[in-house]
Amino acid sequence: MAEILRAVKGMNDIFPASVPRKASETLPTSNLWQWFEQTARNVLQRYGYQNLMTPIVEPTSLFVRGIGEVTDIVEKEMYSFEDTMNGDKLTLRPEFTAGIVRAVIEHNALYNGPLRLWSTGPLFRHERPQKGRYRQFHQLDVEALGFAGPDTDAEQILLTRTLLRELGLKEGEHIRLEINSLGQPAERAAHRAALVGYFEANAALLDEDSQRRLKTNPLRILDSKNPAMQAMIDAAPKLMAFLGPETMAHFDAVRAVLDAVGLEYRINPRLVRGLDYYNLTVFEWITEQLGSQGTVCGGGRYDGLIEQLGGKPAPAVGWGLGIERLLLLLEAVGVVPPDQAPDAYAVVGGDEARVPAMVAAEALRAAGVSVLQHAAGPEGLPSLKAQFKKANASGARFALVFAGEELARGVVGLKPLRGGEAEQVERPLSDVAAWAAELRNA
Ligand code: ATP
Ligand code: MG
Repeated sequence: MAEILRAVKGMNDIFPASVPRKASETLPTSNLWQWFEQTARNVLQRYGYQNLMTPIVEPTSLFVRGIGEVTDIVEKEMYSFEDTMNGDKLTLRPEFTAGIVRAVIEHNALYNGPLRLWSTGPLFRHERPQKGRYRQFHQLDVEALGFAGPDTDAEQILLTRTLLRELGLKEGEHIRLEINSLGQPAERAAHRAALVGYFEANAALLDEDSQRRLKTNPLRILDSKNPAMQAMIDAAPKLMAFLGPETMAHFDAVRAVLDAVGLEYRINPRLVRGLDYYNLTVFEWITEQLGSQGTVCGGGRYDGLIEQLGGKPAPAVGWGLGIERLLLLLEAVGVVPPDQAPDAYAVVGGDEARVPAMVAAEALRAAGVSVLQHAAGPEGLPSLKAQFKKANASGARFALVFAGEELARGVVGLKPLRGGEAEQVERPLSDVAAWAAELRNA
């Protein structure tokens, strides 16, 4: 036998629930995924966000400039390669924002005013694979470009709340919101200077990684998970103390909206986010149910990025939601997607019934009914009993019975498959549209 090929480590196949899963499988089903996407599109539409699609591959320099040279992503997580045809340096996108900003600048898309956009698809980061952390993963990404005021920060947080709620998650019980303000660049510079002084005074307590970060990106020391450094980190100067009245007014205005709609949150002064480009409001939705992969959704304001990538200065705010993590959370708390079984299963009595059954199934599908048709194999059709077994297993609510005697009279048998011993009834094949509604899942 030929050797079996396997998917690249950390990159996954997402199967429907009807395919039995390996005992070791921890990935969500495509049924849950599809329901998530449907729900998300519906919510995004209600908030007036429109879809933008950008390439999966971008010039490496976009991410180096956009995300920042001394971030985990650019330092060690990017899938970068050379185009063997022309030597171009390319990268599989590790996040959405830089590509979206590039597209908006390239097409001068803010010319007519601000934009509310969303995107979804695969992202790539070379990380150690584990539950909720993969090398190819997916995000729903939402960006509002050209909006300066706190209303848009608040709107986006409310959008995330609506989405999480409509997926069946409960705030406080399954997931909670943390927010913070990162201030403006000058305020951060003042804080950074104080922080560097503090860390230098405590240099003996810094581990090797943090020693290095002290020279490159001292703020990242605050993210260190080293237990031996926690007490020292907790006592470090807080950014809040360096934030001026304008920054605080923006933050308070965001909070006023959250308070007015009764959305509870915790202000977490340690919430800094992994990427360099954020300013003012940042937020994360966090769960305790997924171990250390607890951040399901995160984002905030990034007013400097458009100019940094060569565009006319314009403010922006956005967030990304990790789809795999969110779906794992939904499974962990017992959320099941609505029934996706077909409305009807077409049971075919004999060879002469195959074509009429297919014609009727087409008419039913045109009328909005989902029909799974039993397909004849090379040996023809199995017994009606065997087909009914398949019909029951499919989860369909009705069997459509196409058999010789009924067909001769121009009717199809309609047998409810759930709810006990319901009687089979007959419906005319001449006017399928007239009774199709009976089959459709209300
Ligand atoms: P983490 O601290 O968990 O590495 P991050 O700060 O790198 O997260 P972001 O860049 O803010 O993550 O991406 C937004 C969301 O995308 C995360 O909150 C998470 O839900 C998801 N995410 C990030 N990296 C991965 C990954 N490797 N696998 C699966 N989901 C991921
Ligand atoms: Mg990360």
